[in-house]
Amino acid sequence: MKTEYDIVIVGAGPAGLSAAIAAAESGERILILDNNPQAGGQIWRAGPIFPDPELAQQTYRQIQTKPNIEFMFGAKIVAAPFTGQLLVERAHDSLNVTYRQLILCTGARELFLPFPGWTLPGVTGAGGLQALVKAGTPVHDERIVIAGSGPLLLASADTAKKAGAQVLYVAEQANHSTVRKFALQLWRWPAKIFQALSLPHRLYQPDSYVVEAIGQERLERVRLQTPKGIIEVECDRLAYGFGLIPNIQLGQLLGCQIKDQAIVVDEYQRSSQPQVFAAGECTGFGGSELAIVEGAIAGYAAIAQYEKARQFFAKKQRYQRFATLLQKSFKLRSELKTLARPQTIFCRCEDVRFDQVAERANWIDAKLHTRCGMGACQGSTCATAAACLFDWPLSSARPPLLPTRVKSLMSMTTCSLNQK
Ligand SMILES: Cc1cc2nc3c(=O)[nH]c(=O)nc-3n(C[C@H](O)[C@H](O)[C@H](O)COP(=O)(O)OP(=O)(O)OC[C@H]3O[C@@H](n4cnc5c(N)ncnc54)[C@H](O)[C@@H]3O)c2cc1C
Repeated sequence: MKTEYDIVIVGAGPAGLSAAIAAAESGERILILDNNPQAGGQIWRAGPIFPDPELAQQTYRQIQTKPNIEFMFGAKIVAAPFTGQLLVERAHDSLNVTYRQLILCTGARELFLPFPGWTLPGVTGAGGLQALVKAGTPVHDERIVIAGSGPLLLASADTAKKAGAQVLYVAEQANHSTVRKFALQLWRWPAKIFQALSLPHRLYQPDSYVVEAIGQERLERVRLQTPKGIIEVECDRLAYGFGLIPNIQLGQLLGCQIKDQAIVVDEYQRSSQPQVFAAGECTGFGGSELAIVEGAIAGYAAIAQYEKARQFFAKKQRYQRFATLLQKSFKLRSELKTLARPQTIFCRCEDVRFDQVAERANWIDAKLHTRCGMGACQGSTCATAAACLFDWPLSSARPPLLPTRVKSLMSMTTCSLNQK
């Protein structure tokens, strides 16, 4: 099955939706593809007890007035067999989607670093906990510890609290003075102050990090390094995350230039590849406001409305300054790189231990000798952890990007033969 569009946008988060609204002014045929079953990306996830936030509702209403925007959900991009073409796999079929312009708005994912006990049931990502709770996982009366780094910890604590959980501790690895300096700068972005004030901070403890998750069948307690020394907290869940890592695999596959683990773009969000734009957190993390502005610039630039795109430059600069402050303030401390013990699981898909990976020379060597990164998640957790812990260069992306049905791969072969 072949489907042709003028503009294809990958990712229906704030950046992708904003890009679509801008580009739709051209009247061209636009497709937004997303792996998720609904729009909203990471921040605008809704569920049984979490309605869409007002800004998301406004955005969806705007999209409804644009008949030239189509959505395709549950659609994962597996390969890019030719320039201007993507191989997309859905639950029951696969199809080749063609585009004239492509806008990558693939967002970011959490960075997980291994520590003893991190694979116990009851331990999830901080954003992962949010996603579970918003999707309806009951956490009422559960005792939850949240640990790691960055504002996502507070957002996660807020979501858990609203769902009736008892948040016992929010452990932020950055030190007191850095967090204080960060908070004192927030007056420059009033919306951010409002967000910060709406989140609980009584239990927020800088200079603290998780050193071990302990339990037999599942998590029973967490050992934390705090300013008062090591403490143990009994809990039902631990949600942790050490910041965000841009999702760049599709950009890598398309040959886009990558720097600092993000897709490199110019002022109009153009990547180094002709026809390919990128916006939002795949170009570096910086929050939803920056993602929306970058999406609008990419959307207008894709339809050659450069004057309209330029109208967003000042706003972009303002939120870019917030992104820079965020990255500076929540830099990871070196102790986090030494938490794993030799026997700690490093690749949970293939049950590979930390010592097996640590003795290898680089990522390819580790993969070939241990099967690390060759399981269901295709290294999305352990490859980024390896890059962070061992300073190994990022692995390159190869098709298929995700586990794929043989039938889908065959459609790629048929397509290549037809092209010849
Ligand atoms: C787990 C998590 C939770 C977060 N929670 C918050 C929060 O509560 N508050 C906050 O301020 N910020 C939060 N953030 C930060 C948040 O990601 C951004 O501020 C904002 O959502 C970025 O918007 P975006 O459009 O760039 O990306 P996203 O919102 O991440 O959207 C990217 C979309 O692209 C899709 N996608 C990616 N790759 C592919 C592919 N190959 N094929 C098909 N679809 C693909 C994804 O499914 C996703 O829907 C969270 C981040 C993460 C990772």
